Amino acid sequence: MPLSSEIAAARLSVLDRIAVAARQAGRDPDDVTLVAVSKQQPDERIDAMLASGQRVFGENRVQEAEARWASRRSGVELRLIGPLQTNKVREAVALFDVIETIDREKLARAVAAELARTGRTPRLYVQVNIGEEPQKAGVAPSDADAFIDLCRGLGLLIEGLMCIPPDGAPAAPFFARLAAIAERNGLRKLSMGMSADYEIAVSQGATSVRVGSALFGGRMAR
Ligand SMILES: *Cc1c(COP(=O)(O)O)cnc(C)c1O
Repeated sequence: MPLSSEIAAARLSVLDRIAVAARQAGRDPDDVTLVAVSKQQPDERIDAMLASGQRVFGENRVQEAEARWASRRSGVELRLIGPLQTNKVREAVALFDVIETIDREKLARAVAAELARTGRTPRLYVQVNIGEEPQKAGVAPSDADAFIDLCRGLGLLIEGLMCIPPDGAPAAPFFARLAAIAERNGLRKLSMGMSADYEIAVSQGATSVRVGSALFGGRMAR
């Protein structure tokens, strides 16, 4: 199969599985956004994904995203789903429509200052370290309410929550925990679910799923 048909078929298959999972959960499939995670993918696969009609993409590194999207930016919604260093806030705010990884006070303050300076209004998510894993980014679940309040106090409009559950454990309880934190803080958007578990995430209320390898195939080494 030519690459363009292969990519288009993979996308339709993922969209179909999202729709089935949504309907089974009594949800409208249109309430779930597919974010195609394009990090470390070759240009020809990105271009094939664009040709298939996909318009929402996720990247986890600011510089890599700048290089990849400089010539492809128009009509595309770009989401930052990887850790953000405060020294990259200027570039990130300039490039991304959505920043999903607000996870500490210093970063929240830097983003607030940059929004004030530029007048830009990217949509913002707080990342929660839902499995309380030392190696993962995100605010601890027990600190989430206070951190969301702090962000709001800085004038940041937080739209939702994002998480990456632990490897090798059933994901559903972690997704449910993230949904509960969102609910009690009046947040309507949940970014959760990757190639291995996006249907489970949809059943637990995900409003966006971040899918890479199931759409594009394996990634290149950096
Ligand atoms: C790479 C990445 C994904 C996509 O992972 P796949 O397993 O390839 O679907 C999703 N979310 C984040 C935060 C990532 O870094």
